[in-house]
Amino acid sequence: MVKIKLFFFFLILSLSVTAFSRAEVVSSLWQTQKSQHFIVYYQGASSSFVDELISKAEDYYNGIVEELGFRRFDFWSWENRAKIFLYNNTDDYQKETQREGWSGGVVYVNKRVIQTFIGQGSFFDSILPHEMTHIIFREFIGKNIALPLWIDEGIACSQEKSNLASRMRLARELVSQNKYIALSEISKLSSLGDSIKPDVFYAEAASLIVFLIHEEGQSGFLDFSRLLRDGTDWQKALFKVYHFTSLEDMEEKWKEFLLK
Ligand SMILES: [Zn+2]
Repeated sequence: MVKIKLFFFFLILSLSVTAFSRAEVVSSLWQTQKSQHFIVYYQGASSSFVDELISKAEDYYNGIVEELGFRRFDFWSWENRAKIFLYNNTDDYQKETQREGWSGGVVYVNKRVIQTFIGQGSFFDSILPHEMTHIIFREFIGKNIALPLWIDEGIACSQEKSNLASRMRLARELVSQNKYIALSEISKLSSLGDSIKPDVFYAEAASLIVFLIHEEGQSGFLDFSRLLRDGTDWQKALFKVYHFTSLEDMEEKWKEFLLK
């Protein structure tokens, strides 16, 4: 289960508009339920499941925009609602999305679409807020802004509920045993190659963002995001808002935060 989750997180961020047309073509087969910020498309899910999904998704939406400082920007209302396609099972999901067996869901940032399937234990607690955060953050800063992968994934992981505590625990272990990836190294990654263990990467990315949010709160994170949106280089934006003098300086402060 853990493996499925990690591989899933490894692959879900799709900033390009690719291969979503299949689901749209068959959308007449779907039943829908709508709320202020979401349209859920489903086939076999029970209405109580869909009710729960919508209620949690609305709660997460409010929690995420609050924590990231984006409260005043209501991106998803009414005609801009996000769409969640809920397949009945992993077979239907794979057939329609052409995804691998270990994929638990996919997010299309440009289309504000999440595709996933029912019956996954971590769906409500972690997959759903993780995916939503990817969309919300990228809608705010812009899809074409180049960032190291740890920023996008760290922000998404920081909003997970059930997974975050174990990610923070692992990050503390890595730092205390001096086994973490140096910030200058992790910042070179725009995708995960074979040499990086996904669990190490995600733990470190999550803890870096939790550290930033702790340092300057929502308003600091909003300032940082605004600078990114306006085209400031990510390092300059970090140094300006958080007053780091270098990546090494930031790394030292992040380690102190984790070990205190
Ligand atoms: Zn992700």
